[in-house]
Amino acid sequence: MTSNLEISRNATLKPLADVAAAMGIGEHLCEPYGRTTAKISLDAIGELADRPKARYVVVSSVTPTPFGEGKTTTTVGLGQAFAHLGKRGVIAIRQASMGPTFGIKGGAAGGGYAQVVPMESVNLHLTGDLHAVTSAHNLLAAMVDNHLHKGNRLGIDPFAITWRRVLDVNDRDLRQIVTGLGGKADGLPRQTGFDITAASEVMAVLALADSLPDLRARLGRIVVGYTGDGEPVTAEQLRAAGAMCVQLREAIKPNLMQTVEQTPALVHCGPFGNIAHGNSSVVADLIGIRGGDYLVTEAGFGADMGAERFFNIKCRASGLVPDAAVVVATVRALKAHSGRYRVVAGRPLPEGMLDESPDDVHAGAANLRRQIANIRAHGVTPVVAVNAFPTDFDSEKRAIADIAAGEGVRAAISNHVAAGGKGAAELAEAVAEACAEPARFGFLYPDDLPLDRKIETVARRMYGADGIDPSPAARRQLDSYERCGFGSLPVCIAKTHLSLSADPSRKGAPTGWLLPVREVRASVGAGFVYPICGDMRTMPGLSSHPAAEVIDIDESGQVVGLA
Ligand code: ADP
Ligand code: MG
Repeated sequence: MTSNLEISRNATLKPLADVAAAMGIGEHLCEPYGRTTAKISLDAIGELADRPKARYVVVSSVTPTPFGEGKTTTTVGLGQAFAHLGKRGVIAIRQASMGPTFGIKGGAAGGGYAQVVPMESVNLHLTGDLHAVTSAHNLLAAMVDNHLHKGNRLGIDPFAITWRRVLDVNDRDLRQIVTGLGGKADGLPRQTGFDITAASEVMAVLALADSLPDLRARLGRIVVGYTGDGEPVTAEQLRAAGAMCVQLREAIKPNLMQTVEQTPALVHCGPFGNIAHGNSSVVADLIGIRGGDYLVTEAGFGADMGAERFFNIKCRASGLVPDAAVVVATVRALKAHSGRYRVVAGRPLPEGMLDESPDDVHAGAANLRRQIANIRAHGVTPVVAVNAFPTDFDSEKRAIADIAAGEGVRAAISNHVAAGGKGAAELAEAVAEACAEPARFGFLYPDDLPLDRKIETVARRMYGADGIDPSPAARRQLDSYERCGFGSLPVCIAKTHLSLSADPSRKGAPTGWLLPVREVRASVGAGFVYPICGDMRTMPGLSSHPAAEVIDIDESGQVVGLA
């Protein structure tokens, strides 16, 4: 079998200026970064404003399993497929975080004949946006510590500093550290730690800002900690936000690339799904929405999380209205949701799971049904994409289509990984039909609903919970956020993505449970409050055999070993 890296390398690429021109983006708006990527000036948003708006399609999935459902491959394959219907597709996806690239195998550029290329650029550095986020984040951290060292004029409580440091490396030993060791001239010793760069609030800010002035304003609103009286202290008060914005002035421009079929692809930002909204940038979508007939973007995790945050956080920030939502389902995922197999991350597929069994697929149907309902709850028309794997049986793929039909939802079997855009043409037709239906999009809750009621609304309506069970600490934090004026923000619930419930081992569509809210935090700059419902890692570790062990450079200077 040809590897993703080989397919990527053999792709014929168009000059990027031509890719941009096909989107109506003139050369004066393209800033080439090498031969395969260009940054697009944010002036494009204003200059393209008279062009017709594309249909806006979000791709999410059933509740993920450790096997990967193929949201990115489906996003890319669907974007490519529109060309086979005589329409112009544009794709917008997240940029890979390098920590996981060298940790768990598996890139973020798609796969097979549904890939953004060159895949090694998407997976490694690209145009350095993540480094800019790291720098801006750590500049603010240094200014917090410097403020303490230089007399602490703002009265920051050293024990109430919430701003940590970040690095784009999976390094578990940095999770908890002590800074400021040494003498009096070396700072104030205190306990803090590192998160992965994708988990930085600066990344979420960059992804949600709709212009450079909005980026500047959001950076200023970042809360770094609290005073002894519990008053929030912001990056603006520390006079750090201007310099941070300067560091991000290039990073805010979306990166234009192309797929193996020369479909335009905007690759921009990668907020961590565990504690942030996990969607690519607003500015990329504001440009992409004027660049073709269909803009296809991916929302990480299942529809209960990725799509819910796409609707209630990203669309709130961008003002864009989705026309349809794809729910990716695989035979293996629905079999896993049957509860008949013990699925463990990092282990091979359980014994017998690849044997032909449409019955197992039907046994996992409850999860797909719930995720379909989650899309409909926002007034958006769902389409089920059956992402076909070589090991699937026809009877099993048909079983998924039957479940969708039972819900009155369009479905198509998609072969984009093996066959590229042509393999997703049927899916593209179904999506086009769904987009032609009248849109009735609405948010799940109004801005002015109290924070606890917002959490409860998502828990009940998206996850199927009976309600929420906040700890006393969580209740106190919610009250204090309402008092600080953060009550009108949307919520970004940090829970496991591996179950509709808060317990990763519960498959299908669990009922009769309460969502435990352990604590609540706020990303005020990004513009959301995030309740923590379970153990959320913000700095991954490496496994016993990290991907870094097999990634290398060959004699000709080419990268080898990227999956
Ligand atoms: P997600 O975006 O849902 O996390 P990806 O699209 O990144 O998933 O796919 C996860 C992994 O599964 C990738 O390594 C990809 O190449 C592989 N994959 C996805 N779809 C297929 C398919 N239809 N056939 C074979 N491999 C696939
Ligand atoms: Mg993905």
